Amino acid sequence: APKKLAAGNWKMNGSQEALSEVDQLSSAYPAPGCGIVICPPATLIPALSERARGTAIKVGAQDCHAEVSGAHTGDISAKMLAEAGADFVILGHSERRGDHGETDDQVRAKLMAAVDAGLTVIICVGETLEQRDGGSTLDVVRGQLSGSIPDGLTAANLVVAYEPVWAIGTGKVPTTEQIAEVHDLIRSEMTRRFADGAAMTLLYGGSVKAANAEEIFAVANVDGALVGGASLRADDFTGIIRALE
Ligand code: 13P
Repeated sequence: APKKLAAGNWKMNGSQEALSEVDQLSSAYPAPGCGIVICPPATLIPALSERARGTAIKVGAQDCHAEVSGAHTGDISAKMLAEAGADFVILGHSERRGDHGETDDQVRAKLMAAVDAGLTVIICVGETLEQRDGGSTLDVVRGQLSGSIPDGLTAANLVVAYEPVWAIGTGKVPTTEQIAEVHDLIRSEMTRRFADGAAMTLLYGGSVKAANAEEIFAVANVDGALVGGASLRADDFTGIIRALE
C-alpha cells in the first residue's frame, strides 16, 4: 500500500450520481502525494473502477466472504470483488463486527481470502466508549490485532486502521495523545510480527474532517485516514487529502 493513504469509506451511501465526485477528485489530484482509495457500496465498484481507470484513484470494497464461491446467499467473495475492479477491501469494521456479529476468527478468515485474491486489506480495530472508560483500550486493540491478523502479511497487502467506535460519526475525536498511544501500540505489534512492519501504513478513522486532519496527521505513526462522512463529497475529501500530501 502507499505509505501515505487517504481512504474513503462510503458505507451504505452513494448512488450512480456520486460517481461524478470521483471525476472531481481525479481532476483535482492528477498526481497526488498520497494514495487515494474510495470504497463505495459493492454495486458501484464496477462503474467506479471504470471511471477511475488511468487516474490515481483506487477502488476498494467494504467486506468480503471468506470463501471463493458456494452456497452463501447474499455474500460476495474477494475474488469477485477483485474481478469487479477492487484493489482494496475494508475488513473488520466495527459496523460489521456490531451489525453482523463478526468475530476476530471470521475477520481473520476473510483477510486470508482477500489476500489470496490479490486485494490489499484495510483491517479495522478500535475500542468502544465503555472499554475506554474501563481502561481496557490497549488490551482490546492488542486482542483484535492478534485475533484478526494472520501471519505472513506484508506492508504491500495489509493496512491497519485504528477507529475508536465512539469517534465514528459522532464528531468526537480522541486527543492526539490518545491517538499516539494506540498507534504506538499498533506499530510495535506490527514490527514485532512482520519483517516490514515499520513500513506498514497505519490509518486513523473516526470523525476526520478537513478541519482536524492536519493535527491528526502530525501524530507519530499516523500515515493517513479512513474517512466516512467527509469522503462522500469531493469538496470535503480534497481538504483531507491536501492535509496529508
Ligand atoms: P466517520 O468519518 O463518518 O466518523 O466514519 C469513520 C469510519 O467509520 C470510516 O470507516
